Amino acid sequence: MENLMKGKRGLIMGVANNHSIAWGIAKQLAEQGAELAFTYQGDAFGKRVAPLAAQLGSKLLLSCDVEDIATVDSVFETLEKEWGSLDFVVHAIGFSDKSQLKGRYADVTTRENYSRTMVISAFSFTEVAQRAEKLMKNGGSILTLTYGGSTRVIPNYNVMGVAKAALEAMVRYLAADYGPQGIRVNAISAGPVRTLAGAGIGDARAIFSYQRRNAPLRRTVDIDEIGKSALYLLSDLSSGVTGEIHFVDSGYNIVSMPNLDELKK
Ligand code: NAD
Repeated sequence: MENLMKGKRGLIMGVANNHSIAWGIAKQLAEQGAELAFTYQGDAFGKRVAPLAAQLGSKLLLSCDVEDIATVDSVFETLEKEWGSLDFVVHAIGFSDKSQLKGRYADVTTRENYSRTMVISAFSFTEVAQRAEKLMKNGGSILTLTYGGSTRVIPNYNVMGVAKAALEAMVRYLAADYGPQGIRVNAISAGPVRTLAGAGIGDARAIFSYQRRNAPLRRTVDIDEIGKSALYLLSDLSSGVTGEIHFVDSGYNIVSMPNLDELKK
C-alpha cells in the first residue's frame, strides 16, 4: 500500500509536539504522499511545530488560535490563495481548565470554563468545517478526535466529556449536511495517550493503567496506530463512510466490567 494520499492536500490542526495525536496522523499521511499544511497555537508551540512540519516537507505553517476567529479565517484565506482547494482537514484540538478536570463534575464546573471548553473543544470543529467546505469543491474528508468520556462517565473527564458529546453530535449533523457534496465527516475516539492534553486530566496515570489492564487487547494505543486509522478515514479507502465515531482504543469501549482477575481481587 503506497501513495494512498498522492495528489491530496490537507490541513493538520493540533500538533503541539512530537507526542501529539495530530503528529501521529500527519506522519502517516505524509508517508502516503499527502501535501500538508500545519497550524500552531502561539509562538511557543510554533517553535516546536516548525521543525516537525519541515521534517514532513510542509511549506505552510500558520498561526491559529480558535478562540480568535480572525485567525481561523486567515488560515483558510491562505489555503485558498496557496492551494485553491483542499482535500482533508484534521481537527485535533481540545482545551479545558485543568483545575476542573478533577473532582466532581457537579462541584467544579463553572459557566466561564464551560463556555470556553465548548468553544475550543467542540464548536471550533463546526467553524473549521464551515470554512473547509468552501475549499472542498471535489468532495473531501474532515476528521476530529474524541474520547469515550462523551457517552460514559470517566472519573475527572468532567466538562470535557460534555464537550466531546457535543463534538460527536456535530460530526453527525455536519456529515448529513455535507454528504450530498461528497464531503465526509468522521471522528476517531482514541483510547488514552500520554500527551500534553492527556496529562491535564486528573489521575491520568491511573486511568491509563486501568485501561491498559482491562482493554481487550490488554494495552493502550499509540499515536502511530491512531494515525493509521486516520489514514483510512481521510483516504479513499473509507469512501463509503461518514458520520462515524470510530474507536481506536484497544477495544476498551466494549467492556462493561474489569477483567476477571481484577474483578476477583
Ligand atoms: P496535545 O496537547 O498534543 O494536542 C492538543 C492541541 O490542542 C494542541 O496542539 C493545542 O495547541 C491545541 N489547542 C488547544 N487550545 C487551542 C486553541 N485555543 N486554538 C488552537 N489550538 C488549540 O494533546 P492530544 O492528546 O494530541 O489532543 C488532540 C485531540 O485528541 C484533542 O481533541 C483531545 O481531546 C483528543 N483526545 C486525546 C486523548 C488522549 O488521551 N490524549 C484521547 C482521546 C482524544
